[in-house]
This record gives sequence, C-alpha cells and structure tokens, in this order.
Amino acid sequence: MSDMQQYKCPCCGGALEFNVSGQNMKCPYCNTEFDMETVKQYDESLNQHKPDNQSWEMPSSQWGDGETGDMKIYICKSCGGEIIGDDTMASTDCPYCGNHVVLMGQFSGDLKPDCVIPFKLDKNAAKEGLKKHISTKKLVPKLFKSENHLDEIKGIYVPFWLFDTEADAQVNYRATKVRTWSDSRYRYTETSYFDVFRSGSLAFQNIPVDGSTKMEDDLMESLEPFNVNDAVDFQTAYLSGYLADKYDVSAEQSVSRANERVKRSAEDVIRDTVVGYNTVNVNNSSIQHRNGKSKYALYPIWLLNTTWRDKKYTFAMNGQTGKFIGDLPVDWEKFWMWFGILAAIFGSVAYGLLWIWNFLL
Ligand SMILES: [Zn+2]
Ligand SMILES: [Zn+2]
Repeated sequence: MSDMQQYKCPCCGGALEFNVSGQNMKCPYCNTEFDMETVKQYDESLNQHKPDNQSWEMPSSQWGDGETGDMKIYICKSCGGEIIGDDTMASTDCPYCGNHVVLMGQFSGDLKPDCVIPFKLDKNAAKEGLKKHISTKKLVPKLFKSENHLDEIKGIYVPFWLFDTEADAQVNYRATKVRTWSDSRYRYTETSYFDVFRSGSLAFQNIPVDGSTKMEDDLMESLEPFNVNDAVDFQTAYLSGYLADKYDVSAEQSVSRANERVKRSAEDVIRDTVVGYNTVNVNNSSIQHRNGKSKYALYPIWLLNTTWRDKKYTFAMNGQTGKFIGDLPVDWEKFWMWFGILAAIFGSVAYGLLWIWNFLL
C-alpha cells in the first residue's frame, strides 16, 4: 500500500497529514482530525463517480431518388439567407430582409427532415392577425397597411434539432449545518460537514435547439411553445407553397447546447431533494445518457420582415398556435401632425403630449 497517497480534508479541501499524537489524520489548515476509516471512505466516494457520457445518435435520414426534384435553393445576396422552395418561388423576396432572392439551382444533399409540424393556420389567418394588430395602431405608415404588403407574409419552415434521452445522473454535494449557542463567557459555532450523494434517472423528450442563425433566437423563443406532439413524419408535400430555411447549424454543433440543458436540468431536479442544510455546494456531478437520439424537425412560422427608413421590422406568427409577435414602425410625421391638431384642441401641451401619446401609440 502506498503511503504517498494524498487525502483531501472533507471540510476545507486541504491536504491531510498523519497526526502522530492522535494516530489519525489531521488537517493543518482547519485543524480538524479524522480517523483513518472516515478518510478512506470519503476518498473512495470522491473517486467513485462515473465519467460523463453524453452521446447522441445523430439524424441521418437521406433524401430518396427524385424526392427533391421540384425543390430549388435560393440565396439572398443581401443577407446571405439560403432558403428552399419550389419552382414557383422564382420571384420571391427574402423572408428575412425583404430583398430579392436569386435561384441558386437544384436543391441537393443535406439531411432529410425526420418530422414536421404542419401549418395549422393559413396565409389568410396570418394576414388577418397582422391586420388586426395594425388596426389598433394609428401611426403605422401607409406602406404597412396596404394589402400588397400584407400579401408579402411568407410561410417558412424553420429547422430544429430535437434531442431525446434517458439520463442517469449522480451528484455529490458538500453540505454544512451550522449550530450556534452561547454561555455566559463564550459564543460557540459548530459547523458539521456532510458528504451528500444523490443519484437519479430522468427522461428528456424533444429538447429543441434552433438550427438556423437567420432566425433570431429571442424571436424564436417568443414564438414558443410549439406542440411537438402534432409533428408528423416528413413528406415533401408539406413543403409545397411554403419556404424552408436551410439549416446552417448542424446537429453536431447543437449537441453542446443540448448536453448543457440536460445536465443543468438534472442537477436542478436532484438539488431539490437535498434539504435541511445551511449550505450545499456541488462537489462533482456526472451524467450518462441512455438511448440518446436526435431528430431533424421543421417548425411552421409566418414571417414578414420589412425595412422602413433603414430600420428592420419583423412580424412573425406561430403557424401552429397563432401566437404572434411584432413590432411596427411609427410614422413620426404623422405623430406631429396629430399632435398639432390635438394640442390645438386641448391647449395644455404637457398634458396633451402624454394623452396624445397614449391615444396614438
Ligand atoms: Zn481542513
Ligand atoms: Zn435576405
């Protein structure tokens, strides 16, 4: 047996030394003494933790012969967006920036989506949603109200990687309980240290990671949730009449985000079971996936991007639930015109400004 092995102090982490007078181990930093058996057990528990294993089976569905026949790839020379559509999209505008897209050629290669959440709300529903939203705003520039412009709203499938896994997690915590009391001469503080170990199994389903950098993350998050239970096996027919965003973040590149979410969620859930201590800190944690697999999915979104006076405005609607987000420009010339009229009527400028502000915006 090697005597050179170093043992760590369970209280402060310092290197323990053999204490001749007590025939035990003593920490030179915090002066706590331990019997040999305790030290060995603690050391074993530290070395026992299993290594992380967060592996996933990657999506690998391939397109069949002739399946991509009608699909073309378009590129926007202005923002670099690459989208997939059929032949009829030749004269379309970029859903991300509103500039013209040009045909790049026949779509080929890439993975085939495993599943798709089909559009439940059609273009008319999207137009109605936008119209209603605009009608509550009095200062939206004319451009935005024209029927032509509303017609520009586009149905686009956004790529997502969905991760499923079962996970076994082990977490080792260092916890303390502190007790204080006093007598007529002294105040006493007693700190007890605990080596807390927890393990558990959890299942994760459809952890989404956005596969497109063109679709801004915060925008996408505000459109959530999508109900993945409605997803169906992908068929090319779902694409007809719609655009599809070409993924530019691969499943492999998304793995670290999925791993982080699994690990953090597992730690959070397990942490909730450690109660009754004054402090709890993670000493180490490890996680092993079982049957980790990922799918390539398409989510439906209605999207309208417009640039007005050098600023970009986005209106987007969840094509499944109808939830929408949108910011609309304010025509300040109109604002001051209205302000002039209303201020003339109401007189008091400060009060009027506030009131008109509320009334118009
Ligand atoms: Zn110590
Ligand atoms: Zn563009």
